Amino acid sequence: MRLRKRRDDHAWSQEHLSHYVDGDMNWRSRRRLELHAEECPDCSLGIRALRALLRLLNGSSGRAAAASAGIFDRVRADVARAETDAGESDEP
Ligand SMILES: [Zn+2]
Repeated sequence: MRLRKRRDDHAWSQEHLSHYVDGDMNWRSRRRLELHAEECPDCSLGIRALRALLRLLNGSSGRAAAASAGIFDRVRADVARAETDAGESDEP
């Protein structure tokens, strides 16, 4: 049951990473994601990657943040597809 909860946390965190780096999230949810990211290399790496991407997209202004939301989805879709492709070529 504890493992199940943690998997749920992971799925939830992955879904909300872009909201987290955008600041589009209340403090309670931010805390939940931060706590999870502390023990999940996957999610902490995801936060850092999205933050770097956001900096690149926005430059010095934050006005592009809302417009970048769709890009996060595309990046995630690309990553998911790349992982699927890699999995297929690795598995015999
Ligand atoms: Zn995670």
